[in-house]
Amino acid sequence: MSTEATGSDSPHLQAEKMFAGLSAYQHALTAHVDWLQSWYGAILNWGDESRPPPKPGGCAFTSWFDGAVDTTLAGYPAFAELGQLHRDIHFKADQIIDRAVGGHTVTTSDYEAMMALVLAFSTTAQGLERDVWRTLATVDALTGLGNRQTMMSHLVGERDRAIRQAQPCCVGLADIDHFKKINDTFGHATGDRVLRAVSECLRGAVRPYDILYRYGGEEFLVCLPSASQEAGMQVLERMRAAIAALDLKTESGRAIPVTASFGLSELTADLSVEESLDRADNALYDGKRAGRNRVVAYNDSMDNF
Ligand code: GH3
Ligand code: MG
Ligand code: MG
Repeated sequence: MSTEATGSDSPHLQAEKMFAGLSAYQHALTAHVDWLQSWYGAILNWGDESRPPPKPGGCAFTSWFDGAVDTTLAGYPAFAELGQLHRDIHFKADQIIDRAVGGHTVTTSDYEAMMALVLAFSTTAQGLERDVWRTLATVDALTGLGNRQTMMSHLVGERDRAIRQAQPCCVGLADIDHFKKINDTFGHATGDRVLRAVSECLRGAVRPYDILYRYGGEEFLVCLPSASQEAGMQVLERMRAAIAALDLKTESGRAIPVTASFGLSELTADLSVEESLDRADNALYDGKRAGRNRVVAYNDSMDNF
């Protein structure tokens, strides 16, 4: 496919990088635990010539940390904390080795200080991993957009806020037209790439405070805070036109025509979020029946369908 968003900040790439970052992080932690074991082995067997002390600085965690400072993991507060604790552990470990090498007794308080650092490191390491998984759990792995689980609680919050502030708030549903045919014609992998390209395209068409979710297989939802029905229609129309203008091609240069249909409804005090979504769905299918590649706002006559 010739036209596909590959920008470094595209959300699906971010999600992929986070998975890769997590795996590299787990390797680094294992390397640190290996180093710690050899350090304990060396210090406990001190005086035994067959067990030389580990070389200072010989822990692969350091090179992982230095290489990871520009990655998504570095954005979490626990990352910097972990780096500091790691340096503290090695500083203390070297100090203890130096004492032993100098023929001094290593005291209980030395061991206790080392143990406290190791425990703090372990707790912080688990916290960082939990923070990263928490982020990943809110994201759809294929597109990097918010997933359906996070969507519902967010929409309930947006509805409450709209009511409290007496502001409108719209939701838009998008469904790619004849997507099954795209899969059947070009293969599932190309279908996946189309889903990513459409996600990127939708991202480019929304306002900064609008939030996009992958609603289902080839369905997307956009929440449009403060948007009246008229403003919402304009945003969805921009999205529709942007998708229709996508110039997607297979590697062999074959054009992949993509369009999507859209349904719009409002989040209001007299309807639950689910009811508003049903309305957007009714409007969307009205657009499908009318020929696809169009944007339709809900109106009361649609309740009859
Ligand atoms: P319509 O215009 O009426 O929406 O037709 P459609 O073909 O888009 O709708 P339909 O519901 O018949 O087909 C949706 C297809 O989307 C079927 C399913 O296999 C495919 N699909 C769902 N999730 C994924 C995915 O993650 N990747 C790919 N490649 N295909 C998916
Ligand atoms: Mg569908
Ligand atoms: Mg579809």
